Amino acid sequence: MKVLKKARKRKPNNDLKGSTAKRFMASGEKSDQGKEETKVKGLQTWKSDGSILFADFGAKSSDKVAGFDMDSTLIDTKSGALFAKNASDWKWWDETVPNKLKEIYEDGYKIVIFSNQAGVEINRVKPETLKGKFTQLYSSLKIPFQALCATSKDENRKPNTGMWKYFVQNCNNGVIPKKTKSLYCGDAAGRPKTKTKKKDFSDGDRKFALNTGLTFYTPEMYFLGIKERLPPLAFNVKKLKDLEGKSPTGEEEKYAKEEQEMIIFIGSPGAGKSTFWNNFLKDYVRVNNDTLKTKEKCMKVARQALEEGKSCVIDNTNPDAATRSRYTSIAEELKVPCRAFLFDIEKNICMHNNDQRKVNSHRSHFSKKVSNVIIHTFFKRLEKPAEEEGFSEVKTIKFIPGPFESTGDEESYYNS
Ligand SMILES: [Mg+2]
Repeated sequence: MKVLKKARKRKPNNDLKGSTAKRFMASGEKSDQGKEETKVKGLQTWKSDGSILFADFGAKSSDKVAGFDMDSTLIDTKSGALFAKNASDWKWWDETVPNKLKEIYEDGYKIVIFSNQAGVEINRVKPETLKGKFTQLYSSLKIPFQALCATSKDENRKPNTGMWKYFVQNCNNGVIPKKTKSLYCGDAAGRPKTKTKKKDFSDGDRKFALNTGLTFYTPEMYFLGIKERLPPLAFNVKKLKDLEGKSPTGEEEKYAKEEQEMIIFIGSPGAGKSTFWNNFLKDYVRVNNDTLKTKEKCMKVARQALEEGKSCVIDNTNPDAATRSRYTSIAEELKVPCRAFLFDIEKNICMHNNDQRKVNSHRSHFSKKVSNVIIHTFFKRLEKPAEEEGFSEVKTIKFIPGPFESTGDEESYYNS
């Protein structure tokens, strides 16, 4: 209640009169009279912490948090371009936005902007442009708010919960937000194309709300009061939880054989091939292109293993028969039986697992994240393995999440 009273005392229209600079101070910084103006101009009020950029435009702590995405939610570009050309290239998403924000501010909500800005990492967005834009938003809005930007595609990027955790831990003076009273509004809701609107480029905002436990609104719902029925999520990793503990083949989990053999894996990056080897076939020599670098080296190591009487797994994507024949021919020559394990995993799951390599630091990963193009290419090139290629058996493997290395690992996996 204290927060509410204080908020009401301050008339929004008077906010910028007097010392405006005070509001630009980052939390924890002490106001230093003569220097304030320089600080605003020099944008030193921003705090950079890992991949998070944070600014406090004078917002008081509250257990009622109204979180917002920025682009296509609070503002659009004035130029109509996809990305803002400069700090002034913005207009309110709708004329109702500033008044609605004032209204909820006076109602005791703390306004916090959570914005994905991975363009910073690849130099497409200059931090100065971003900071300038927030400063202009503040000048126009004349009410306090905080802004957090995730500048990399890591655990802080929505729909991952890093920015929210950072906010709760560092930006609200220890006040724990009440999720039932708080909300999050963003345009990336996974909505299909309509006559008047392009399809949402992602469902990242909706999943961010889901992962943080906040009530979700699209800008149309929140600012315009339009009732929308959101379609089911195209991919919801939380549903994979039901598979935990099941067998990847529906059979008894005994994949290794007593007799010497070669197994060729066929599967997209992110299909869980190396993890499968680690879980079930660790006694087999692992032949992997990421570690061995060239196909010649892979073939050499495979041959060597078989010649030494060991079994081996070709842990590469092996999308087509031609690639696989490099290895089946070695097995044939050395009269060692060969099986194919086809990782029949939905593309969305592969992409999710691939993302984990960058966003989930609670786990040791076998490979670095690859570009999604490589995953699409795998699915395009895939020729399903057939026994005629020289396999004694073709086994189909389904994806089962886990085992997880820690609760942090599990949390990151399902909240992404
Ligand atoms: Mg947006």
